[in-house]
Amino acid sequence: MRQDAGVARRKSAVSQCWSAPTVQRSPQEVDDKVKFAQTDGSDLVLLATDPGRSLVDHAWTCRCCGKQFNTLPLDFACKAPDHWFGIPEPERESRAKLDSDVCMIDDKDIFVRGCLEIPVIGLDDCFVWGVWASVSRESFERILELWEAPAIENEAPKFGWLCNNISLYPSTLNLRANLHLRSGGARPSIELDPTDHPLAREQRQGISIQRVEEIAAALSLRH
Ligand SMILES: [Zn+2]
Repeated sequence: MRQDAGVARRKSAVSQCWSAPTVQRSPQEVDDKVKFAQTDGSDLVLLATDPGRSLVDHAWTCRCCGKQFNTLPLDFACKAPDHWFGIPEPERESRAKLDSDVCMIDDKDIFVRGCLEIPVIGLDDCFVWGVWASVSRESFERILELWEAPAIENEAPKFGWLCNNISLYPSTLNLRANLHLRSGGARPSIELDPTDHPLAREQRQGISIQRVEEIAAALSLRH
């Protein structure tokens, strides 16, 4: 099984920060090795991938420019929910807390990062959108309780609203989802409600490797 940087969360960050909600963390502590950005012009959401850990060996030629690549990224992540980007920059530090896995805004809106996994036809690994979902305080408290649990069994999924607009689809904001908590330091998996939204359809039906190429080409800057 591939060690998936997009799936593994940093336990220490959250257990230190969120069990003691009065501790402020600055946004600079967020890992932001930003290599990719949305190209819809809003550039509200930066997508990051951890170099070297989220690539599969796969030779492909970009259909937009003809450039050849030997690897293909399999996960892209948003470093924060769109709501965080929506806060004017000077206010972010006072109104929001953000680390690699949890975001809280105005001490009431709570977001957690999860993995929206999409099977890739013919590959063992999934494509992963690292995206954020808002959850209730009650769900969040349970998520924290189970944060370091070595095993999670029979835990009901937690409802969440998807809180990133991925520019390659019709708006993905506020799609309904269920978060499945995972043990062993893995981020929760995000399962969209089975609607006709193209992202939900892709999650149910899987995507071709050509579609992954298309996503990589659309999100890669200066290639
Ligand atoms: Zn290209």
